[in-house]
Amino acid sequence: MRDPLTGLYNRRYAMPHLDRIAGRAAQTGRGFAVMMLDLDRFKAVNDTHGHAAGDRVLMETAARLSDNIRKHDLLARIGGEEFLIAMPDTDPDRVRLAAARLRRVIADHPMAAGPALLPVTVSIGIAFADIPALREAVAADQLTASVKRLLERADKALYSAKAQGRNTVNFGRTAA
Ligand code: GH3
Ligand code: MG
Ligand code: MG
Repeated sequence: MRDPLTGLYNRRYAMPHLDRIAGRAAQTGRGFAVMMLDLDRFKAVNDTHGHAAGDRVLMETAARLSDNIRKHDLLARIGGEEFLIAMPDTDPDRVRLAAARLRRVIADHPMAAGPALLPVTVSIGIAFADIPALREAVAADQLTASVKRLLERADKALYSAKAQGRNTVNFGRTAA
């Protein structure tokens, strides 16, 4: 359920939870977005400062992200230096503000890792759920597949954020 290093939910917990959030969004019709966040050039942190310093950076990142989301947003560590945030009951403007804030809270203050203070940045990809498509998916008993496509869109947006130079937010294409 929980990742022992950061205390965040792990991928195994996050995926079914995401389906539940999506199912609820289909019912309520309220906006739902997912964010994929990946630390920039993190391998270099390990290579230069050691794995323990890398671990400290992961813990500090998790703490800063946790402190800057709402209670009912889902935050999970889904890969080595990759995080997922699911935001129910939201709209594109709020998601934009939230993503901008999350990018800043990582980048604006270097992280203490052993004796060194390390500058850390994160790239963020966002996908907004298409509520009519979610509803069709629910009707066809295809919700999991639909959520998978949503995550793939967020992943593509993350990839674009990396290609744009990192330490940036990419919104992907906006669903209708
Ligand atoms: P990019 O900006 O393209 O994301 O570059 P990157 O270096 O962050 O990406 P890459 O996927 O090449 O490297 C990820 C690194 O994350 C490699 C691996 O050593 C490190 N990593 C993964 N899990 C952990 C962990 O639990 N602890 C530590 N210290 N490092 C980890
Ligand atoms: Mg990665
Ligand atoms: Mg990375």
